[in-house]
Amino acid sequence: MTVTEILRNTNKTLFSFEVLPPLRGKSIDQIYKTIDRLIDFNPAFIEITTHRNDYVYKEVKKDIFKRVEERLRPGTVAIAYAIKQKYNILVVPHIICSGYSQQETENELFDLSFLDILDLLVLRGDKSKQDSRFIPKEGGLQYASELCQQINDFNKGKLVYGGQHELPHQFSYGVAGYPEKHEEAMNMTADIQALKKKVELGAGYIVTQMFFDNQKYFDFVKQCREVGINVPIVPGLKPLSTINHLTMLPRTFHIDFPEKLSQKLAKCQNNDEVKEVGIEWCIEQCRELREHDVPSLHFYTMNAAAQIETIMKNL
Ligand code: FAD
Repeated sequence: MTVTEILRNTNKTLFSFEVLPPLRGKSIDQIYKTIDRLIDFNPAFIEITTHRNDYVYKEVKKDIFKRVEERLRPGTVAIAYAIKQKYNILVVPHIICSGYSQQETENELFDLSFLDILDLLVLRGDKSKQDSRFIPKEGGLQYASELCQQINDFNKGKLVYGGQHELPHQFSYGVAGYPEKHEEAMNMTADIQALKKKVELGAGYIVTQMFFDNQKYFDFVKQCREVGINVPIVPGLKPLSTINHLTMLPRTFHIDFPEKLSQKLAKCQNNDEVKEVGIEWCIEQCRELREHDVPSLHFYTMNAAAQIETIMKNL
């Protein structure tokens, strides 16, 4: 079954999570440790993020720095396959426009098809750290919807620069949605129209950006339904775990903390206190979301496997 089919047919709230490939040169074991903590809660699927190449300065000799193109977290496809083999579980690698030409994406689709990994989350991807706006790679794509179209064409056997392939597999995919609006969208209406386009192209479900105010998710789902977006909308959740998160998450993900949560956080003196508030808050969020029969509670695990384990035990 595909993730789309699982989410469409479930009559209870499922559990799923996202992992990041290890930092360049680090072992895959840290991903296994995360999964080992969470596997007993029967995740319906595990997502693996993809990170674009970016420019960094490397000290090649003493005091001599060279600007090189490097991927901070390489290995998405290999990690997806390793997880699938080790845990016999559905994996969803993310596939992004950012930093990829269409031909490089096509190569990745071949790899994934040969590995029988057919569930994807289709995204535009983050902009380069050196740019103030998103700039596609030469021969690459500007919007996630264009990548949905490339995958649809691939599913029909069409290759980017003409000709046909003979692989039998069909990819199935989800896309991202933003309960608090994507940072670049002019307004919520425009953002939801862009989302609708991805769904009309064939996205079978939506995974949301993290949010800390359930009402924002409920309003978002309502707005989506009003314009005819009828696919499952999976809420993305992140337990707060460090003092740093209090400024970093709103700044990076363009989200707000609700008043009640910020009052609790304002009293925290250290990471342990933030963790405690983060767990309590996330449990409350999950309970309410589950009462509303959301398709899955989807966690961004980044450094928080132990907290998610505690949250799941409490649920
Ligand atoms: P799009 O759907 O292309 O939208 C981008 C912006 O363009 C939006 O403001 C939209 O309203 C607007 N837009 C869309 N189409 C049009 C159009 N035709 N005309 C005008 N405006 C338009 N990033 C990574 O690099 N790697 C990851 O693995 C990753 N995983 C993620 C997982 C989830 C669940 C989420 C929510 C985000 C993830 N991101 C990841 C971040 C994501 O790539 C960024 O938020 C990116 O800026 C937007 O991606 P998108 O797919 O939503 O883009």
